[in-house]
Amino acid sequence: MTKDHSDPQQGLSTRSIHAGDLDDALGSPHTPLYDSSTFRFDSTQALLDVIDGRKPGYLYTRYGSNPTIRSLEEKLASLDGAEGALAFSSGMAAISSLLLAHGRRGIVCIGDAYGGTLELLTQQLPGLGLHAQLIDSAQIDRLAAILQAGTGLVYFETPTNPTLDIIDIRRVAAIAHAHGALVAVDNTFASCVNQRPLALGADLVMQSATKYLGGHSDLTAGVVAGSDANLAAIRPWRKNLGQAIAPDIAHRLSRSLATLVVRVERHNATAAAIAEMLSKHPKVARVYYPGLRGSPGHAVAAEQMSGFGGMVTFDVHGTADEAMRAVDALNLITLAPSLGGAESLITQPATTSHHDMDPAERRRRGITDSMIRLSVGLEDPSDLIRDLEQALSR
Ligand code: PLP
Repeated sequence: MTKDHSDPQQGLSTRSIHAGDLDDALGSPHTPLYDSSTFRFDSTQALLDVIDGRKPGYLYTRYGSNPTIRSLEEKLASLDGAEGALAFSSGMAAISSLLLAHGRRGIVCIGDAYGGTLELLTQQLPGLGLHAQLIDSAQIDRLAAILQAGTGLVYFETPTNPTLDIIDIRRVAAIAHAHGALVAVDNTFASCVNQRPLALGADLVMQSATKYLGGHSDLTAGVVAGSDANLAAIRPWRKNLGQAIAPDIAHRLSRSLATLVVRVERHNATAAAIAEMLSKHPKVARVYYPGLRGSPGHAVAAEQMSGFGGMVTFDVHGTADEAMRAVDALNLITLAPSLGGAESLITQPATTSHHDMDPAERRRRGITDSMIRLSVGLEDPSDLIRDLEQALSR
């Protein structure tokens, strides 16, 4: 059973280390890895007591009923300030179960979303009778009218990918709740260190744990947190689609969470320094970073985020090819389509995440051909700045 580390007075670092830890009989200071797929019972009555919920216990790992997974979920719930959390085998597993469980009355997706999410919303879910309407982040005024039709779920990311637009979580939650809709936020870019959507009025929050929570580009996982009632609808989808996180990944993720706060604070600080440097660089046309005072989302970001995150996007003067040459000239920063790792990763959205999008639609969304998205890692800031400067000077 887990120790009671749910003291809300404790800070995030303390909870990221101790919340959800098992009271291990052999004295392990953290929850050990239980890789068992099933758990033995002394009698049929004891088995039924667990199945029927009369007694606590563990049953079958695919159900998420496993000590290592439960311990991770208590930690994740504590970090999000939630009643509970469900851990998944990927961020997309978390998103798909969330949308399947809560999207029956229709979904409104605000602003840019991760490509996989958009594909699910526009290509796969409509075939199952779940319909989504996509609106721009500048069109929140339209939300109330759209929700009149009885739509059940409002879904969005903030900051968004790749232009780091900021969506006002409190404002959207007020409109959605006035119309009886739930609000789910993909908090992957900010992470639960920089932003707590549930405290701002959201009903559900998800993160691709592949990014900042895992933090080392060495695991794939996802999490949804919220009230027990809202998670109860998601749980059977996770169980029967077989999407629960594997125990060894849960164990590795718990280990990563112990350093989450110090990592994210460093990501924030280095990203702010790089955004400043880029905003003064003659080869850079525009910098997108919510921490910059002049940035369009700065005021709302300063209200709803406690740090501005480790993602910096910028446009270079010139063509897509010139941007590609700058990316290819980097020595230290790695060209790879992910984010949130210890190593700095860079991509050009037009050639990766938004490659398959119609160029006119890309332009409409403000995604330029010369746009570069940087996930600022944990290297020494001076080394990253030197690498960017030498690549931009080519
Ligand atoms: N949400 C966001 C914002 C993402 O960037 C990603 C992946 O890049 C996902 C969700 C999907 O996560 P995963 O790759 O862990 O399935």
